[in-house]
Amino acid sequence: MKKCTRCILTEAFPNITFDEQGVCSVCHAWDKNWDAAKNKNLRRRYIKLFKDLEKSRGNYNCILAFSGGKDSAYALYLLKKKYNLNPLAVNFDNLFQTDAVRKWISVITKQLNVDLITYTPERENYLKCVKKSFEKTRNFCIFCNLGVYSLCQKIAAKNNINIIFSGSGKLEVNVISEHPELDYYKYAKSIFIDDNEIAWEDFKISQELCNMIKFELMGDVFDWNHNNIIETLNKNLGIEYPTKGLDYIHADCKIACIANYIYYKKTKMTKNEYTMANLVRAGQLTRKEALKKIEEEKKLLRKEPEYLEELLRLIKINRKEYENILKEDISYSPPWYHGHNK
Ligand SMILES: [Zn+2]
Repeated sequence: MKKCTRCILTEAFPNITFDEQGVCSVCHAWDKNWDAAKNKNLRRRYIKLFKDLEKSRGNYNCILAFSGGKDSAYALYLLKKKYNLNPLAVNFDNLFQTDAVRKWISVITKQLNVDLITYTPERENYLKCVKKSFEKTRNFCIFCNLGVYSLCQKIAAKNNINIIFSGSGKLEVNVISEHPELDYYKYAKSIFIDDNEIAWEDFKISQELCNMIKFELMGDVFDWNHNNIIETLNKNLGIEYPTKGLDYIHADCKIACIANYIYYKKTKMTKNEYTMANLVRAGQLTRKEALKKIEEEKKLLRKEPEYLEELLRLIKINRKEYENILKEDISYSPPWYHGHNK
C-alpha cells in the first residue's frame, strides 16, 4: 500500500493524494495550517488563564474531564502541581472502564489531593445507546464522548465553575469549533433524529450553559510529548501507569479496542494513524517510532478482541446481526474527526 514519505498516512486515508516526491496532501495541508507561533500564543493565553483562575473564589477553580487515560492524568497533574489550581476531577464511568483504570483513578486523585466525582449512566439506556450507535455508525464511542461533555457541564453549572478542561488536543482530533461539545451533541441528535427510544438526560448539552461555561483542550499546548508523559507521571507521582506499553490505544476502555478493530477492518486504517501522522509532523515522534507503534497496533487488531463476545451479549446483538452490520458501508466517525472532511 502506498505510504507518504514524510508522515505515515497511506492511500487508505480518505481523499488523499501524493505529489512527485511521495509527500501526501494531508502533509501539504498541515504546512499551510499548522502555525507553531499560534501554539506559543495559545500557551501564553493558558498561563494567563491559570493565573486568573488561581484568584477565583469558590471551592474549585475548574473542572477536569478525567477519563483515567494518560492525557487527562497529565492534565490533572499540570493543573494541580504546576499551576497550583484546585481542579475538580470528573469521571464518566461508561460501564466499560477496566478495573485497573478505576483503581488508578482513585489512587492518582488521592495522591494529587484532588476531589473526584464519578458518575455511571443509567445502565439499560446506555447499553441501548451503545447498540444504536454501533448499528448506525460502527462506532461505540459517540454516547461516551457525549456523556463526558454533558456530565462536566452539569457539574460545572451546579458548582458555579465556568471552565472545563480536557486533556485531548488538536493533534488527536481535528476540533475546530469553540464548542466541540455542542457540535458533538448536534451531530448525535442528527443521527438519531427519528429515534424516540433514547433517553437523552445523560447526554444533554445546553446551548445556554455553553455560553457560560468554556470548554478548553489542554492537549498539545504544554510540550505534550507522548513519549514523556507517562515517564513524568511515574516519576513525579510514584505510581506505575496501569496500561504500560498500550498507552496510545485507549487501553482504559474495554470496548475502545473493539471500535478500533472494526474501524481497521473496514478502512484498513487504525483510529490512531491520523494522530500519529500529526505527531510526526509536529516533531513529537519520529516517523520510524510512529510506524513501529502503528505496526504493533495493527498486529493486535488483526485478532478479534476477546471482549467482543461479551459486548455483543450485553447489547443483545447476535453474531449474524453483527456480521451483517459490518457489511454495510457507512461513516465511522463524526465528519470533522481526523480531518476526513478536509
Ligand atoms: Zn504525509
